[in-house]
Amino acid sequence: MPKLSVTRRTIARPQVSEDELKPAEPQGPAILAQERAQSSINVEQLAQHLLHRNDFLARQKKILGVIEKRPYFSKKNQLNITRPDRYHLGLARAKELRRLSLKYGWNFDDYKMADYLTDEMAAYALQTIMFATSIREQCNDEQKAYWLPKVENWEIIGCYGQTELGHGSNVKGIEWQARWNPETKDFTIHSPTLTASKWWNGSLGRTANHAIVVAQLMLPDKKTGKLKSHGPHQFIVQIRDMKTNKPLEGIVIGDIGAKYGYAAMDNGYMLFKNYRVPHSALLARYSGVDSTSGMYIPANNQAVVYGSLTYVRAQIIMHARLVLARACTIAVRYTSIRRQFADRDAKGKSEEVAVLNYPTVQIRILPLLATTYALHYTGEAMYNLYCILPAIVICSLSAQSPPTIPPLPIPAPKTRLPYPCQTPRSRNGMRSDVTKAAIHVSPPPPIPATTLPKINHSADGATPHIVVPIAKKILLKSRPYRRLNMSVSLPDRG
Ligand SMILES: Cc1cc2nc3c(=O)[nH]c(=O)nc-3n(C[C@H](O)[C@H](O)[C@H](O)COP(=O)(O)OP(=O)(O)OC[C@H]3O[C@@H](n4cnc5c(N)ncnc54)[C@H](O)[C@@H]3O)c2cc1C
Repeated sequence: MPKLSVTRRTIARPQVSEDELKPAEPQGPAILAQERAQSSINVEQLAQHLLHRNDFLARQKKILGVIEKRPYFSKKNQLNITRPDRYHLGLARAKELRRLSLKYGWNFDDYKMADYLTDEMAAYALQTIMFATSIREQCNDEQKAYWLPKVENWEIIGCYGQTELGHGSNVKGIEWQARWNPETKDFTIHSPTLTASKWWNGSLGRTANHAIVVAQLMLPDKKTGKLKSHGPHQFIVQIRDMKTNKPLEGIVIGDIGAKYGYAAMDNGYMLFKNYRVPHSALLARYSGVDSTSGMYIPANNQAVVYGSLTYVRAQIIMHARLVLARACTIAVRYTSIRRQFADRDAKGKSEEVAVLNYPTVQIRILPLLATTYALHYTGEAMYNLYCILPAIVICSLSAQSPPTIPPLPIPAPKTRLPYPCQTPRSRNGMRSDVTKAAIHVSPPPPIPATTLPKINHSADGATPHIVVPIAKKILLKSRPYRRLNMSVSLPDRG
């Protein structure tokens, strides 16, 4: 048998670096430059109009410069790691932000900006968003002097427990009870059913050692002697051991598990079994319980009781607007560059069409873009409402004129955002024959003086009161920030 000889041949392959490859023409930056050149809008002016609050743009630049290059804040693998790892990364980032705050002398707005730029809602978020805000807004001076330094120095970590499994929007319907004990002059907090489990509460599942919990304030009725609810009230309570971080006896806590979003956040559940808290646990800036008589001390004005929630809602809306704005920006840029199918009806050789030019794509993206603006103006209105609320109440008690809401800096009316819309004509009529579409954005009108809350002063000098239901009149009926007059105008079909 002849021997087989195997010769190994090396095939010479050209060295190709991925970096040398370029997308097919036309290049993305060139397309975007072309699209932008068609717009007459002053981008700088629009950016200042939308992001003027708290010097957003300058702050973003400053904070980005600090955190951008730090490995903790790299987003490269953020979506590839498991939920426990994302939770731990969130904790590590939050600690790093705290260190940076001290190093660079950041104020609260700087810290919030850094937190926003991490792109992840991490487990200490509720400490600053809800816990500290509620202490500042709802505690009396004595409570504030005790709790606030602990929060600001991060000696305690807090969360906010309002929503229950059975009640979210209808706060009045929550089931947790805080029963007044006349003999011991303290409260017993209890969750009477399974649906009374606190649910969704951020930072609760694993992190927080303190909570502000909302429960029906139950006091004995003078006539019947039976317990009567005076509505939901806030209590500050230690919930975990400060050393072991285990829930205290009589308290059950857990993590509600995986969610679509907020992977790094430990949204939790919690039940109290006849858990005793002192009289001082009831946040008592506006209302309270007389510890001697057990009588209810009502708030002078219910609007201020919800002040901190108004602030937090404004923050949530403003955050949602930024996230949606970024998503829309990515979608619009991508669909401007992305091309698919040539115009079958075009004479001669036709280029592939940008997918943004298809109305079926526009119909999905443009309403989201409009929603971003709607969120923006809703958030602005909520902030303005929050800012003037205490002043209105003070005025209502001291017979002064109510404050006015400062108008927003508004660019020239009827700003026109030309939209690049050159879609191919369709034989079957599925695609429209749009040659140009434009979005007309009318900035919100200034608030007419007549829509501001009025204060009635009775002739006998008794306590004046606000006659206009603020939220209803300002936000809904008179619509100071009316829904954006945004329409897409399409020229006649040819
Ligand atoms: C990510 C996340 C984090 C959260 N963090 C916290 C936290 O830290 N602390 C806390 O206490 N809570 C927290 N919540 C709970 C949140 O406040 C509630 O989800 C919210 O109040 C809505 O309540 P719900 O989920 O019970 O919905 P529901 O009140 O049951 O509402 C369900 C649907 O019905 C609609 N609906 C309800 N009532 C009406 C009505 N009268 N008219 C028209 N439509 C209505 C709602 O719009 C919604 O679409 C969090 C929730 C989420 C999703």
